Amino acid sequence: MAKKVFLGVGHGGSDPGAVKYLKEADVNLQMALACRDYLQANGVEVKMSRTKDENDPLTEEIAECNAFNPDVAVDIHNNAGGGDGFEVYHYHGGGTSKTLAQNIETQVKAIGQNSRGLKTRLNSAGNDYYGFIRSIKAPSIICEGVFVDNAADAAQADTVAEQNKFGVAYAKGILKTLGVADGGSGASNKPTSTQGESTGGCPYVVRIKADELNVRTGPGMNYPINVKIHKGEAYTIVAESKNGSTTWGKLKSGAGYIGLGYTERV
Ligand SMILES: [Zn+2]
Repeated sequence: MAKKVFLGVGHGGSDPGAVKYLKEADVNLQMALACRDYLQANGVEVKMSRTKDENDPLTEEIAECNAFNPDVAVDIHNNAGGGDGFEVYHYHGGGTSKTLAQNIETQVKAIGQNSRGLKTRLNSAGNDYYGFIRSIKAPSIICEGVFVDNAADAAQADTVAEQNKFGVAYAKGILKTLGVADGGSGASNKPTSTQGESTGGCPYVVRIKADELNVRTGPGMNYPINVKIHKGEAYTIVAESKNGSTTWGKLKSGAGYIGLGYTERV
């Protein structure tokens, strides 16, 4: 069984999060997409709370996460309040949540960002203050990458390439915590349900024949639907994966996998 990771993507839609030198909601999403791609390349099944700019209330995130029942959950945010550096909140009781926080902090430091450290925050009842940590059943943490209201700190994540580095750092820390081998972004150790991904013939372009086709986060019907695509649209396939009798094509866009039986090559 592939390991499962839930990524909460902070804010979105009518809630931009913290805004000054960066718009938090957008940076959170880019970091999360890079984290997802790296995890998926290493055979981890990933569910994100959102994959585009849309409203994404915390209560929904929590319900979605608990229904997915991941091995760990990471909420991706950026900070405000005039500090400097990364910080990460974990479950006050420690355990896997704290280990995950430590492993991610190590990777964040390795990309050159300083850390304000591992933190916990309690409410007046002595439980974890943050709902993402208090109400999610899996070991969970909240990452705060940079301060969007500190010009120098925000500059560490003001390009997509830099935001991707944070996402990859988070993914590396997650892989270590899960005991999954880190084969890099082009890793070939796919989920055990996959009979090997091949690049034979790829890349090539297909046109969608079905009226509507689900793009799934991995090569199989058991993976969650990421987005739907439509008849007549053309997509570039960069890899093929056999899963049972179905051949899945990996979209170049990074959106996920589609059943190639519903497409024709163009
Ligand atoms: Zn936030």
